[in-house]
Amino acid sequence: MYDENNIFAKILRKEIPCDKVYEDEFSLFFKDINPQAKIHILGIPKFPCTSFSDFLKNADNESISFFFKSVQIVINQLNIEESGYRLITNSGEDGGQEVPHFHIHILAGEKIGALR
Ligand code: 5GP
Repeated sequence: MYDENNIFAKILRKEIPCDKVYEDEFSLFFKDINPQAKIHILGIPKFPCTSFSDFLKNADNESISFFFKSVQIVINQLNIEESGYRLITNSGEDGGQEVPHFHIHILAGEKIGALR
């Protein structure tokens, strides 16, 4: 079940500030508070969903399509398509997810190391 009090829900309600890099009707992108690379952006849909699977199962096609297209808008905005980037989404306990609102990490700006 979706927890309305998770930190990203609070950011969406503007109860907690964030360093925003892009926003539209369907999504919000902001800098990670504890960056793991020179560029570390988090992208979240405005739709309340706990994980990638929850988002795909429950959001309408327009929201899903616009969210993933907005990831590319941010990639263009950051000018990282050519140099490269890594997209990550952690899901559940084994995936190491800390915040239970679906989010995509965009890591870039330097060579991103091996996952393990
Ligand atoms: P997860 O482990 O759930 O995939 O990633 C959660 C991410 O959210 C972490 O990288 C963490 O640094 C980031 N984070 C946690 N709390 C906040 C916050 O209040 N503001 C921002 N901008 N990032 C946060």
